[in-house]
Amino acid sequence: MPFRPFYVLLLLAAISTSYAIPFPRRSASSSTNASVLILGGGVAGVIAARTLHEQGITNYLIIEARNELGGRLTSHKFGAKDHQYTVEVGANWVQGTETPGGNTNPIWTLANKHNVSTVYSDYFDSMTTYDYTGQMDYLDLFNKSIDAYTMLTDVAGARVARREVDSTSRTGYSLIGSKPQTPQEMAAEYYQFDWEYAQTPEETSWIASSWANNFTFDPSEGGFSDENYLCIDQRGFKTIVQAEASEFLDQHQVLYNATITDIAYSPSGVQVSLADGRVINGQYSIVTFSLGVLQHDDVVFEPTLPDWKVEAIQSMTMATYSKIFFQFPDNFWFDTQFALYADKERGRYPVWQSLDLQGFFEGSGILFVTVTGDFSERIEALPDSQVQLEILSVLRNMFPNVTIPDPIDFYYQRWHSDPLFRGSYSNWPASFFSEHHENLRADIHGRLWFAGEHTSMKWFGFLHGAYFEGLDVATRVADCINGGGCISLQHFNEVKNARSYTVG
Ligand SMILES: Cc1cc2nc3c(=O)[nH]c(=O)nc-3n(C[C@H](O)[C@H](O)[C@H](O)COP(=O)(O)OP(=O)(O)OC[C@H]3O[C@@H](n4cnc5c(N)ncnc54)[C@H](O)[C@@H]3O)c2cc1C
Repeated sequence: MPFRPFYVLLLLAAISTSYAIPFPRRSASSSTNASVLILGGGVAGVIAARTLHEQGITNYLIIEARNELGGRLTSHKFGAKDHQYTVEVGANWVQGTETPGGNTNPIWTLANKHNVSTVYSDYFDSMTTYDYTGQMDYLDLFNKSIDAYTMLTDVAGARVARREVDSTSRTGYSLIGSKPQTPQEMAAEYYQFDWEYAQTPEETSWIASSWANNFTFDPSEGGFSDENYLCIDQRGFKTIVQAEASEFLDQHQVLYNATITDIAYSPSGVQVSLADGRVINGQYSIVTFSLGVLQHDDVVFEPTLPDWKVEAIQSMTMATYSKIFFQFPDNFWFDTQFALYADKERGRYPVWQSLDLQGFFEGSGILFVTVTGDFSERIEALPDSQVQLEILSVLRNMFPNVTIPDPIDFYYQRWHSDPLFRGSYSNWPASFFSEHHENLRADIHGRLWFAGEHTSMKWFGFLHGAYFEGLDVATRVADCINGGGCISLQHFNEVKNARSYTVG
C-alpha cells in the first residue's frame, strides 16, 4: 500500500536529517522508509504500534505477509453454506481474566472494550469420560490428576526458592508420586498438561511450565484468575486487535501481503527486503515472527545472527496444537462442554469439545477434537481423508451404540507446516536456561529488537505474553528515539554451568 505523498516527503526529510541509511541500495522495484519497522502484525506487532503511537511516534510501518492483522488469532468460516459459523483455528481462550484488587489480563480488557462475545469455559466440572470401550466413568482419576498438577506447580515453586536445578515435568511428576500407568490415567494427565503446553511432560521444563501457569492462573502469584473464557464472536477473536488497531492505525502505516525474505542490520539501521523485490529502510526494527519462523530460517538475517542469539532461538521449542473440526447433521454426543477419550496410545484424539450447546453454537452440529505435539505433526503429514477416517473410528469406539453419520464439513489448520508460523506456540524445555531466554529477547546494536509470545519469560505461549512483549519492547524503542540513545538489553555471550561437568 503506497504512502500518501505528503507523508513520504515528511519521512524523507526526517530521514535525511536524522540518520543515514547504512546499506548499499539494492536494485528494487520500489523503496520506502520508516523510523520503526514492525515486522509482523499479530498481537505483539499491533500492541507495539499502539505503544509507539502513544509515545508520539507515528512514522512506523507494520509489514505483514497476510491480508489482515491478528497473526495466530485466526478464524475460519466453517460448516455447510446455509449453516456456517466462525470458528477459531488459532487462539480461542482468554486464559486468566481478572481478580478484584489484583491483576487483569489485558486480553480480557481488549475483549470487553470491543464487545467480543466470550463464554465461560468450564474446564474441570463439565466433563464426560470415555475410553476405547465406550463411555467409562473415571472422573475420580480425572480429579486426582488435577490435584497432581497443583502439587507439581507447588513443588516447582519450592525448588526455585531453594535454588534447585530445573528438570523435566516428567521427573517432577515422578518425584511427587504421580506415575500414570493406565490409558485412563494417562488421558487425565494429558488433559492437565499436554493440552496446555502442547508437548509432553518429558519435553517440558518443570519450573518454567509451573511459573507460566501460576503467573496466569494463580492470583496469589500475580496471576489474573483461574478462569478461561472461550471466544464465540462471529467477527472472530482477531477483533480484539483489529478493532484496537482501527483506533490509531492509518492505512499508510501498514503493508499487507508483504512477505519479508531478508533483514539486513547494522549499528545504524535496518533494511528489510520483500519477496516482491521491494526494499524498506528503518532506523529500528521489531521482529515479531514466531519462534518457529526464526528457527526455520524462513527469513535470512544479514549478517547472520550472533551465536548467542542462534543458540537461544534453537534451544527453545515451537510446539503444535491442532483443533480438528467436524460438523454433523445431528448431535449424537455428550452434553457436557468437554469429553476425554482414553486411547491405548497416549495423545491419540484425547480432548473433545462440543460447540453445539446452549450459550455456544446451539444447533450447529459442531464438535472438535484437539491433538498436540508429535501427534499434530503426524496428522499434518497425512491427507484430510485419512485423519477423518481415524477420528470416525475413534467416535465409533466412544459411541458403540450410535451409527456415526458422515460429516457435513471437516477442517483443521496445519500450523506446523505453515511458513508464517511453523507451529502454534513456544514451549520451554528443561535444557533451556534463563540466560538463554534473556538472549532470545535481547536486541542487537539497539537497532534490531525481538518481541512475541516466545520472548515473554512469564507468559510464553499466551496471547497476553505477546501483548506484554509488544508493549515492553516498543516502550524501549520509543525511549531510544525520544531519549536520543538506546539502553540495550543484557545478553550472555555463553550460557555456562555454575560448575563444569566432571568425568571420572
Ligand atoms: C492453535 C492455537 C491455539 C492457541 N490457543 C491460545 C489460547 O487459547 N489462548 C492464548 O492466550 N493463546 C493461545 N495461543 C497462542 C497465541 O495465539 C499466541 O501466543 C499469539 O497469538 C502470538 O502472537 P505474536 O504477535 O507473538 O505472533 P504472531 O501472531 O505469530 O504474529 C506474527 C506475525 O508475523 C507474520 N509473519 C511471519 N512471517 C512473516 C514474513 N516472512 N513476512 C511478513 N510477515 C510475517 C505472521 O503472518 C503473523 O501475523 C494459541 C495459538 C495457536 C496457534
